[in-house]
Amino acid sequence: MTTSPTSAQRAVSAATQWHSNAQDQRAGKQPIEEIFGVDVFGWKTMHERLPKSVYKALQRVVNEGDVLHPSIADVVASAMKDWASERGATHYTHWFQPMTGLTAEKHDGLIVPNGDGQVVLRLSGEELSQGEPDASSFPSGGLRATFEARGYTAWDVSSPAFIVRGSNHATLCIPTVFVSWNGEALDQKTPLLRSIDALNTQAMRILKIFGTDEGVGHVQTTLGTEQEYFLIDRNLYYARPDLSTCDRTLFGAMPPKHQQLDDHYFGSIPSRVLSCMAEVEDELYRLGVPVKTRHNEVAPGQYEIAPVFEGMNIACDHQMLVMETLKRVAARFGLKAILHEKPFANVNGSGKHCNWSMATDTGVNLLDPQDETHTNLQFLTFLTGVIRAVHLNGDLMRASIATAANDHRLGANEAPPAIISIFLGDMLTDIIEQLEKGTPSRTLKGGALDVGARTLPQIRRDSGDRNRTSPFAFTGNKFEFRAVGSSASVAWPCAVINTIVADSLAYIADEIEAAVGKSPTPAKVDAAVKKVLKQLVKDHKPVVFNGDNYTEAWHEEAEKRGLVNLKSCVEAYPALESRQCAALFKKHKVLTKPELDSRIEVMYEKYEMQCQIEAEQMALIARQMILPAAHEHQRRLAETVGATQGAGVDSGGIFSELENFVGLVDRFRDKLEEFERAIDQEHGGAKDAAAYVHAHVHPLMDDLRALGDELEGRVASELWPMPSYRELLTLR
Ligand code: ADP
Ligand code: MG
Repeated sequence: MTTSPTSAQRAVSAATQWHSNAQDQRAGKQPIEEIFGVDVFGWKTMHERLPKSVYKALQRVVNEGDVLHPSIADVVASAMKDWASERGATHYTHWFQPMTGLTAEKHDGLIVPNGDGQVVLRLSGEELSQGEPDASSFPSGGLRATFEARGYTAWDVSSPAFIVRGSNHATLCIPTVFVSWNGEALDQKTPLLRSIDALNTQAMRILKIFGTDEGVGHVQTTLGTEQEYFLIDRNLYYARPDLSTCDRTLFGAMPPKHQQLDDHYFGSIPSRVLSCMAEVEDELYRLGVPVKTRHNEVAPGQYEIAPVFEGMNIACDHQMLVMETLKRVAARFGLKAILHEKPFANVNGSGKHCNWSMATDTGVNLLDPQDETHTNLQFLTFLTGVIRAVHLNGDLMRASIATAANDHRLGANEAPPAIISIFLGDMLTDIIEQLEKGTPSRTLKGGALDVGARTLPQIRRDSGDRNRTSPFAFTGNKFEFRAVGSSASVAWPCAVINTIVADSLAYIADEIEAAVGKSPTPAKVDAAVKKVLKQLVKDHKPVVFNGDNYTEAWHEEAEKRGLVNLKSCVEAYPALESRQCAALFKKHKVLTKPELDSRIEVMYEKYEMQCQIEAEQMALIARQMILPAAHEHQRRLAETVGATQGAGVDSGGIFSELENFVGLVDRFRDKLEEFERAIDQEHGGAKDAAAYVHAHVHPLMDDLRALGDELEGRVASELWPMPSYRELLTLR
């Protein structure tokens, strides 16, 4: 239990004071801007600093898709420059999210010599709006031939600029998209923004059908992420080459105590860790990231941080900032933040739950069952749209979260399996089953449901029970995609969900519009909606599964239901290569075929390179660290045998220990040689290389690790060349 107020509580109380009594400010109380969002050039700051006409024009760019006029950019740039330099910023950067899955930035000075021995502060509209980083250094998956290395960053007006600080520097970061010279997406964000538009278009059609589009400007996708991570002592981290190059251990025997007692989850937070978390939170507040939750996770040394949900574009940017801030701040506390999905074998891995919903700009959550009966049919339409989307495109969702790192986690009885299904909970499942049979007419006990004859029932708000084993769970008023990896950018999985749901909503809207014809009446709409939904439930119900996803029985059942179980990247990526997938992304203008192809190429490349680095690192550890330690241990044993025999004492016990140990070292050495030969093989394309690594290198890594871990249990601890799991997981 923490008793001191969190910075969030401080921020909230500061806000309350600020609003309730402006005089408090003069009396020395802290105004909210000093903590919350102080380093963000958001709408509030723009309202204060921009001429009204410019401010309005900018709002039209964001909300109505108006074109950004250069003269407007000039005014905004000038205000942004003043604001940033008043806050100590000396440089600015276009901040973007290339297909590496990380963020990239190139800093330029805001201070420019003007030729007569003086300097001026400058940021032009053009510099704000467009940049040209050396694109050839970022993965393009073949989109950009080497002779045409141009790539441009373009200001994403919808995400606010912010200042990132260090002890002696402050940089204005301008969120941008990254595209090639002909506008092809080279980043994670462009398809995300396009998918948000696609979902908006189709969701608006559904609202129109129900006549609830009145006064609604657009439908925004919302996202709340829950980030799991490990904090490990920094010195121990760098004492292990596997952690410092791969962010995960490649060897490591289990200590007697790890997570079996479940005594870490929600336990009290160690003080060094808590100090680190508080500083992370403070920095994030400054950047306007609304962090709310912090707690211990299941594994020792594992924690979670979760901001309150926001519009998806900004939430994705904020998610990148959460990861960067965790890494940056941890260093100050002598800690290392590990975001890898599976840093330690046999210990829980880390995920990043993505809570996903849709809301109108008037504030209505479209996945909220609502109290008002007449809107429930609309809710069920959106719900059924999601069910159809997931049933038809579970393989794409699976592919969207497939990375070399996440392969170690999915399906390991700690994270959802690789089979994508939906948890709805008893109440909603009951309702869709009624819907399938006709008009729902039954009230579930508890009185939460009040089923009208003409439309659909009232549904208790918190209709979802908890089911932590489902990869995609309805949790009251949103879906929670739980299979996303902890180190991933959430932009790509979110873009995939938006696109497949947009496609389903388009299908539903087409069907209903066709059935109602040119002159819709409420009765016609009602009948058409029910007919369409009934069929959809019938067709797509098999994707709903409320049971325990971790059981073997579910794997069998899922197979009977025709749900795919794609256990690795190599099995998952081909879903993206299908004709239907290309058509889907093209139809909704999220990715062109060349853009999609380039992404797939980058995924295979990344998978293969990451695996190759791990394999080479593992071989080095085995050869340079474990074998020498084992040989030294062997020498000591042999000396002891010799000394024992020399003393004329029966050496049988120690002799067989030596023999046994030598046997183990020999097996380790043989396996290492086999492994070294396997990783030396050359391969053609990235896809072939990935398949090879998966089929031939990974099994050898498992074997070598098992032998290495056995050696760790046998070699004298003073000889073992790396910190053990016990030290890594318990020293805080
Ligand atoms: P859990 O119980 O799964 O640990 P929490 O309730 O703590 O989850 O957090 C769930 C996350 O879902 C939070 O980030 C929260 O802001 C977010 N969330 C809540 N409502 C919505 C919504 N309508 N759209 C998207 N995310 C939401
Ligand atoms: Mg959750």
